[in-house]
Amino acid sequence: MPNAKYIFVTGGVTSSLGKGIISASLATLLQSRGFKVTIQKLDPYINVDPGTLNPYEHGECYVTDDGAETDLDLGHYERFLNVPTSRANNITTGRIYKSVIDKERQGVYLGKTVQVIPHITDEIKNSIKLLAKNKAFDFVITEIGGTVGDIESLPYIEAVRQMKWELGKNCLVIHLTLIPFLAAAGELKTKPTQHSVKALLEYGIQPDILVCRTEKSLNKEIRRKVALFCNVEPDAVIESIDASTIYDVPFLMKEEKLDEVVLRKLHVEAEHKHELGAWSKFIKKLKNPSREVNIALVGKYTELKDAYKSISESFIHAGVANDAKVNVQWISSEDITSENIEKKLKNVSGVLVAPGFGERGIEGKINTIKFVREHNIPFLGICLGMQCAVIEFARNVLGYPDAHSAEMNSKTEHPVIDLLEDQKKIVNKGGTMRLGAYACTIKENTLASKIYKSETISERHRHRYEFNNKYLDEFIKAGMINSGMNSKTHLVEIVEIPAHPFFIGVQFHPEYKSTVAQPHPLFVNFVAAALKQVRKD
Ligand code: GLN
Repeated sequence: MPNAKYIFVTGGVTSSLGKGIISASLATLLQSRGFKVTIQKLDPYINVDPGTLNPYEHGECYVTDDGAETDLDLGHYERFLNVPTSRANNITTGRIYKSVIDKERQGVYLGKTVQVIPHITDEIKNSIKLLAKNKAFDFVITEIGGTVGDIESLPYIEAVRQMKWELGKNCLVIHLTLIPFLAAAGELKTKPTQHSVKALLEYGIQPDILVCRTEKSLNKEIRRKVALFCNVEPDAVIESIDASTIYDVPFLMKEEKLDEVVLRKLHVEAEHKHELGAWSKFIKKLKNPSREVNIALVGKYTELKDAYKSISESFIHAGVANDAKVNVQWISSEDITSENIEKKLKNVSGVLVAPGFGERGIEGKINTIKFVREHNIPFLGICLGMQCAVIEFARNVLGYPDAHSAEMNSKTEHPVIDLLEDQKKIVNKGGTMRLGAYACTIKENTLASKIYKSETISERHRHRYEFNNKYLDEFIKAGMINSGMNSKTHLVEIVEIPAHPFFIGVQFHPEYKSTVAQPHPLFVNFVAAALKQVRKD
């Protein structure tokens, strides 16, 4: 296509209506017709990125290949599209302001008064257009975080108004709203949608398409009414009914012809019909598993499932690859003791110990690992989970009862997990960890080589601490080997215990790379190992 088309997705009425999933579903439909599509998220908060946020605030922090710490919606974009995102795909107000203020200090604005309009809005517009540079994409879908009317998202909405004006038919706005069902009246109500479109109109934006979240189907009459009051065509009122899985949404949007309406309004000829065969196979398998397996996820944010979003989605992909349903049992590591662990893991055929930061719940994770190591239960440790496996082995096999990570105990005599010298000098917290994709060399004849079937792999990192190589020989002699290494820095990336049926810890985050099209091999093999020994005692 000669010029990229821009699609904005705004939200009204309430938050959490699923703008990310609607954006990813529309992108999937366009991609399945042969277009190149990318999705971007604009977040209205002042943090430069979500890396410094507690997962309780916005859920998991997702990491891209180029080392950006981003919003979890980028995970959905990658899982749906199977195309990597980058730092350019997630912008925050903090980043926009930081860049404008840095330019002001450099004198770039030549004595001008620096203002929200045009300087902040120009910076936003440039960040949106950057994605279409070099004709990399036919469609740039930009999701605006927050809800229309929020004070903090006003500059984004203003930037959308300006772009719509400048780009004319190369740009459209989809507004996602809620049509609530009032049980007492037995009716679907359109008024909140009317109000939220009015709010958008006050800012100068006429939405082109309305996607209406609803628990009941919208009849013709409701669609007609919404269309009439909100100045949109009746076929541009799209129903988005609650789905049993997010992976159904592309098909629901296809039935509603969302992509057809988008193409028509942007005057784009469809290149070909949808190619969604693989996706529909995936859904079929997802909905008709032939077996089940219970896997424990041991972490400290178990009340908030979004904190481990990519891990739970990876289990869905790996379950489908194994024709099985993975029932993830969330266990809070703070509640685990060496006395109750056996009871907690009853009926569980595999254990994943989650990533994390800080001391809370750490001993529960270590107790869990001792139990699974001694009882031959399949184990996957991710990042802090791998570090805990190293600490547990040092304490209970090497015989260093005070062994720890310097993160939790900087005074331990046996820091088996430690900071590298160059990390010790760093004071700033934001963006200073080992972040993004690093190559890892896999040793032959190991569990890792069986899983990856490749000599070198690339995986994404997000951590400050590392395996302390001072202890490496002792570990190897005692039966925990380093099966994956960074060949440049000699950092240990994967540990495993060959004498155990499936015990593997990885310093990186495989969950960021699992997609519908390419379920991650570590998860696929871990689920397969758990399925081999389904426990029913
Ligand atoms: N807190 C650990 C570190 O910084 C592990 C981080 C993680 O699990 N993502 O090294």
